[in-house]
Amino acid sequence: MKLNVDVLRYLSKDDFRVLTAVEMGMRNHEIVPAELVDRIASLKHGGTYKVLKNLLKHKLLHHDSSKYDGFRLTYLGYDFLAIKTMVNRGVFMAVGRQIGVGKESDIFEVATEDGTILAIKLHRLGRVSFRAVKSKRDYLRHRTSYSWLYLSRLAAIKEFAFMKALEEHGFPVPRAVDCNRHCVVMSLVQGYPLVQVKELQNPETVFERIVGLVVRLAEHGLIHCDFNEFNIMIDDDEKVTMIDFPQMVSVDHRNAQMYFDRDVECIFKFFSKRFNMSFQESLDDIDGSEVDTDESGRPRFSSIEKGAGFLDKELAASGFTRKDQEDMEKCIEGGIEKDAGSGEEESEGGGHSSDSELNESYISGVVSLQLQEQEEQTLNCDGEGRVEENQQNSEVRQSQTSGPETQDASDKEEDNQTMNDDDAELMKRLRKQNRRAIASVRGGRKTVASRNSYKDKGGKSSHNSKMQKQLSGW
Ligand code: ADP
Ligand code: MG
Repeated sequence: MKLNVDVLRYLSKDDFRVLTAVEMGMRNHEIVPAELVDRIASLKHGGTYKVLKNLLKHKLLHHDSSKYDGFRLTYLGYDFLAIKTMVNRGVFMAVGRQIGVGKESDIFEVATEDGTILAIKLHRLGRVSFRAVKSKRDYLRHRTSYSWLYLSRLAAIKEFAFMKALEEHGFPVPRAVDCNRHCVVMSLVQGYPLVQVKELQNPETVFERIVGLVVRLAEHGLIHCDFNEFNIMIDDDEKVTMIDFPQMVSVDHRNAQMYFDRDVECIFKFFSKRFNMSFQESLDDIDGSEVDTDESGRPRFSSIEKGAGFLDKELAASGFTRKDQEDMEKCIEGGIEKDAGSGEEESEGGGHSSDSELNESYISGVVSLQLQEQEEQTLNCDGEGRVEENQQNSEVRQSQTSGPETQDASDKEEDNQTMNDDDAELMKRLRKQNRRAIASVRGGRKTVASRNSYKDKGGKSSHNSKMQKQLSGW
């Protein structure tokens, strides 16, 4: 499967409307019944099933009939929604070549209207740590909105928030430009990952700068947790830029010491192997920071004066809540801990999911994404709960996404902005109807997936007419 953005240009307004409807349905359904997609999309001239077929053909959706007939977004479908939103926002207008494949992401070049080249990171949480996520099922069982989609989006929000905060505190990181769904847009870092650098003019200076970053992060209350030669970029002037922040934790984390020591160890090991450096002498002045070191020259975590509140304050301001942080930590912790002590060569690049859908996405050549005006007027859900559409559809969306478990902070905020008092009563009614409709769908009764695959298994027609009645009031 290619991430062929050319397809984007040929997708119609209705295609995006239905794709967005599936995304909305996924807030409370792992697999969204086709009927629900049809209701949410409310295409003016009907034809949802034909559109679904087209989206399936382009692998933007996955069809699942194991429990009931329904659909879910694929990574590609999610990519397209994020890319289209960014293009509509004017953040960039063309997607170019793939420049990186991370453990849990794909990185592409994009071009803005004035020709500036930026980078986008499409998060693929679950690519390697899915097993770890699965092992946390007990915790996640009650979360209907749990899915790779939710986790990847959290990872992107977190990464964007950290990148911005770190930049503001003078850390050498890419400039955070924008974020939507699982996609982070940032400046393109000139240079190469340290792992590709065979020679340095001043290895000692670079080494001190890098160890200094680990120390300075801790002083700000943070530990990178994946600080290694794959996540440090070096340019021709040997300037260092650090990247990749979704797994960062606070110095208050119960395993903080272990994560800190591991980050330090990765750097010591790499410089010793690659540049034959030895560390007999204590580094008591690391890149301007005074820090206690042990007999092997490694900075002592316990001796670092750690800034309090950095994480909470900065992240709360960005909309990434403490609860999001806890959710992410619970979900990916297994992954972090699993990697502990293992060589980065193993954890990075290798061990990808067996799902070929996840591995083979790439873009070749630069494809312009100038979208037709007509497409830009399409149902425009930006993945953060904002839907610019007529009143009727925003009501449908809100009723679909209501409920404390499935509605996140940005949705709530948005709801507050868009709902006036008159709406509140209507919303209450809609939520009640929605709960009933969802309960009846969850009651194990099958729904219609497509006209072609319709099979009456008894009692369904009465169910359908019931759904029809409940939804007709929306
Ligand atoms: P992951 O979290 O999946 O490890 P990374 O953020 O580390 O993803 O990115 C993977 C690779 O993509 C990096 O090793 C680097 O080569 C490249 N990359 C990431 N961000 C940028 C950027 N802003 N500019 C240039 N290259 C980048
Ligand atoms: Mg990385």
